[in-house]
Amino acid sequence: MTAPSAGWLVVVGLGPGDDALVTDQVRGVLAEATDVLGYIPYVARIAPRPGLTLHPTDNREELQRADHALDLAQQGRRVVIVSSGDPGVFAMASALFEACEGRESLPDIRVMPGITAMLAAAARAGAPLGHDFCSINLSDNLKPAALIEKRVRLAAEADFAMAFYNPRSASRPETFGRVLAVLRAHCEPSRLIIFARNVSLPDERLLTVTLADAREEMADMRTLVIVGNSATRRVGPYVYTPRAAG
Ligand code: SAH
Repeated sequence: MTAPSAGWLVVVGLGPGDDALVTDQVRGVLAEATDVLGYIPYVARIAPRPGLTLHPTDNREELQRADHALDLAQQGRRVVIVSSGDPGVFAMASALFEACEGRESLPDIRVMPGITAMLAAAARAGAPLGHDFCSINLSDNLKPAALIEKRVRLAAEADFAMAFYNPRSASRPETFGRVLAVLRAHCEPSRLIIFARNVSLPDERLLTVTLADAREEMADMRTLVIVGNSATRRVGPYVYTPRAAG
């Protein structure tokens, strides 16, 4: 990015965890930043250096973080908001644009993509998202549980493969059990489910089971869950979904 005299604000994705999966574009903008804001564990991935101020904050403070970032950029600072994975997938980019609403003027804003957990997990497993798929955030912080169950039911009826983010939180551990019950009501027991935990990190773990064998405890907040469609199958150690339906 050329260094403008005015400040700027870039929202970036750091990928699923391995530094090798951070894009060169994101590395470049981090090297030019004066301020980095984000959730504590994501900011912890940024190496301190002279001239850079790190602003780690709690996860529940997305809108305040976005407002703070906009203020800093309008004061002429070069500001980066960091998300994990991709910043547009259940992350800070939407929160930022929400904070922009109602402001009289906006700084120069850019969004830089990252490798989202769903794609990193799918690549480790083989190609389970090779046909039509959808992704659903199972956190009920921002929407009612009934809406989550409806979306899972309709996705199962439409025979989409599915990727679940935030599958099982400490505060609402029962949500994922209800989602498994919805799947059991609409999918055959042999349906393949992949539990991908800490993908790309040293303690990465991939577990593929059938719906009949799937258990709530197989997921936690560090897990991305992929549910295959009715044609998803194993070949050797891999799981893939054929390119053609039916
Ligand atoms: N913006 C992020 C998602 C944030 S929501 C992205 O694009 O990936 C946080 C959820 O992402 C976690 O609960 C988990 O479901 C998933 N996740 C993030 N990193 C992961 C990883 N390395 N391995 C498995 N799941 C991960």
